[in-house]
Amino acid sequence: MAREVDALAAEFPAALAAVRAATEVCRGAQGRLLAGHTLTKGDQSPVTIADFAAQAVVCAELTDRLGVIDMIGEEDSNDLRAPDATELLDAVTGLVRTQRGDAVSSDSVLDWISVGASAGAGDRYWTLDPIDGTKGFLRGEQYAIALGLIENGEVILGVLGCPNLPNPDGSTGAIFAATAGVAQAWFGDAGEAQAVRVAAPASLAEARVCESVESGHSNQDHSAQIVARLGIAAEPYRIDSQCKYAAVARGDASIYLRLPTRADYREKIWDHAAGKFVVEQAGGVVTDVNGAPLDFSHGSKLQANSGVVATDGRFHDQVIEAVQAVLG
Ligand code: AMP
Ligand code: MG
Repeated sequence: MAREVDALAAEFPAALAAVRAATEVCRGAQGRLLAGHTLTKGDQSPVTIADFAAQAVVCAELTDRLGVIDMIGEEDSNDLRAPDATELLDAVTGLVRTQRGDAVSSDSVLDWISVGASAGAGDRYWTLDPIDGTKGFLRGEQYAIALGLIENGEVILGVLGCPNLPNPDGSTGAIFAATAGVAQAWFGDAGEAQAVRVAAPASLAEARVCESVESGHSNQDHSAQIVARLGIAAEPYRIDSQCKYAAVARGDASIYLRLPTRADYREKIWDHAAGKFVVEQAGGVVTDVNGAPLDFSHGSKLQANSGVVATDGRFHDQVIEAVQAVLG
């Protein structure tokens, strides 16, 4: 059962504070990384000192306010414990100190990052992507800090920090937060939250699709065929990270297509939990490419799903039909 904000009286402010703090860390680091500040992980994806520092800061804020928590986080402190990683760890510690003060030690940084490795997390756990869209972050473009809370296989809270997102009012940066029945966002430096709602274009032809910048993360040839089938005229809006979910939630786009590039790829829960919950609470619908709900009850991956389709809800069935026709 989804929980309302009152039932998350401790978790909601903790999650917001955690994402805000990580947003500051990432803002301070984007465009200022030195040559040795980026690593390539075993799966060939990049990770930077800001990814590690953001995970440390989120875990520090959450455990300060909530005590012991379970979390499935993207980053692994073992990458920083290797004897040849001392310089990297020093740089991560330096970034964490910008939020948590100069007394922070490297050992506490490692301990905080390790919170994200709750093996065999129970029925209730957080999931975190400290920098979703690291490739966008490195290009100086879009990325997100994505924090979700999962209970009995359902997302019950989602907070999405989008530090670089351009807003219609000319300001930059937004934080989206969803609890049962409520999707809200703070834009720029605004102190007041605004309600967020999906757009409802009058016809499918007026809809706009968003997708990954990276063609290795979503099949752009298939999306072009789907867009043509649906009679959509607008060029796809290519944007990194879960900012795509934010774009659908606030009506910048009305369809997000994430189409498998390989049959065996399973999406990671931290790439979707927060974003999908924000879209749903803003009135949208999120499924996989087969129209099945995303199933968060299989540990770190969406084992039972393939790809993602998020829409404003109105044309979801027609979009799934077109996706099925193209994917075959
Ligand atoms: P995006 O910015 O939407 O392109 O997504 C970034 C995320 O894509 C990263 O956090 C990765 O976990 C994820 N990713 C990496 N490889 C793949 C893949 N082959 N298919 C889908 N997602 C992937
Ligand atoms: Mg990610």
